[in-house]
Amino acid sequence: MKKIHNYIDGNLKESSSNNYSSVFDPSKGEEIAKVNLSNLNDLNETIDSSKKAFLEWSNQTSLKRSRIIAKFKNLIENNIDELAETVAIEHGKTLEDARGSVIRGLEVVEFACGIPHLLKGEFSQNVGTNIDSFSMRQPLGICAGITPFNFPAMVPMWMFPISIACGNSFILKPSEKNPSCALKLAELFTQAGLPKGVFNVINGDKKIVDLLLSSKSISSISFVGSTPVAKYIYEQAAKNLKRVQSLGGAKNHLVVMPDANIDSAVDGIIGAAYGSAGERCMAVSVAVAVGNIADELVYKINDKIQKLKVAPWTDKDADMGPLISREHLNKVTNYIETGIKEGAKIIFDGRNYKLQGYENGYFIGPTLFDDVKKDMTIYKEEIFGPVLSVVRANDYKEAIDLINNHQFGNGSSIYTSDGNFARHFTSSIKIGMVGINVPIPVPMAFHSFGGWKESLFGDHAMHGMEGVRFYTKLKTITSRWADDSNKGPEFKIPTH
Ligand code: NAD
Repeated sequence: MKKIHNYIDGNLKESSSNNYSSVFDPSKGEEIAKVNLSNLNDLNETIDSSKKAFLEWSNQTSLKRSRIIAKFKNLIENNIDELAETVAIEHGKTLEDARGSVIRGLEVVEFACGIPHLLKGEFSQNVGTNIDSFSMRQPLGICAGITPFNFPAMVPMWMFPISIACGNSFILKPSEKNPSCALKLAELFTQAGLPKGVFNVINGDKKIVDLLLSSKSISSISFVGSTPVAKYIYEQAAKNLKRVQSLGGAKNHLVVMPDANIDSAVDGIIGAAYGSAGERCMAVSVAVAVGNIADELVYKINDKIQKLKVAPWTDKDADMGPLISREHLNKVTNYIETGIKEGAKIIFDGRNYKLQGYENGYFIGPTLFDDVKKDMTIYKEEIFGPVLSVVRANDYKEAIDLINNHQFGNGSSIYTSDGNFARHFTSSIKIGMVGINVPIPVPMAFHSFGGWKESLFGDHAMHGMEGVRFYTKLKTITSRWADDSNKGPEFKIPTH
């Protein structure tokens, strides 16, 4: 059985613990590897390595750092097939979707190549007589990232390229469900010339997360995962006086106005609801049909999802793959049962989906509910599977009230041909990432990714300038170079 170790100080390193967690092929339901569950000794070794590396790395010119990151970018491009396959094997998503997710991560690496420009400070001449003031941004020290299973390449790459470009060393704790991609990225970064210890990967579960949270040597925590864990991380990291950004779960609504191009809305909804089997934090899980458009919308979605191909990643025609685990399959199935019990109308039922040769895989077909009400469990909670709820709203106001009153605030979209609605939606919706006639409004690397409400705890979103600010401390210098300083002490606040 393949064993997956840590990556410490430029090398793969076995944990001193004898604990392992299983990694599965979700399409077959078979164990394919065991991953180290690290302990305090492993963390201490990692921190020693990160500390040493930080001293030199933070003193490198930003231009030298940028050149190594540019080589890393080339290596990712050259190895994209292997990276995408690694994601697909352990996650189960289709190969093209996996490749797309690597490319979205690569774009953050590309952004980080511009670090000399991004770190430029501000300068004001003569803020007082013969006094200049300027600012600089300096690295924090050792930063740590804890990431979820659903994007094993992209989400870590939201974090470490920018943190490292800013001069920090970085410790990544990837999901124990699919840790291999993180190790491959670490190897490629070393090949690109990154000094050993600047980027370490430590595998494990809650135990190692808790050790990271309590370590006095770690300056910041970046987290992406489910909301209950995101809250816990935010509270614990803050209690230990760390800088923290903690992104949680979601329930993304897509509003279809009666004046929308309905076919375009249907295609948008289907891709966003069922792509990656709904295991995306920006997946659309609620379609809000406004006014008299609902019957046609439900009819057209139902018609198209009958033809979706649910298959393993090795099938190049697959539209979506399996869920990540048996446990998660049971959870999604239970949500569907609850939806039916609570009175939602099931239009298409994906339970008991079976694929010949893959009977033990964690497959579930696309599922569609109509007439979902706001007090139902399937509306209130994140399902994180290929289950779409259609909620019928009488008018636009009812639609935006639903979204603004929901606990989550990650993404939301509106399909309309009326600029007034689009403009009002943009400014009044209580959501972090908003789409107008765009189903999944994920910001590009040079903007920033982050939700509101229970979808993000902390002050900073990820990547873009938010990332640069999160991974640096601001220092402002006031300096006088003039031969007129012997005027004796001043006891009042200077005012000019
Ligand atoms: P998860 O919260 O179970 O795990 C995330 C990470 O936290 C993993 O590395 C895991 O090992 C660790 N962890 C799990 N339980 C822990 C605990 N009790 N204490 C400390 N650490 C713990 O999430 P997941 O199932 O891997 O990922 C799916 C979730 O992530 C969904 O809720 C999804 O919406 C969310 N997500 C959010 C975003 C976003 O940008 N907001 C992006 C991707 C995924």
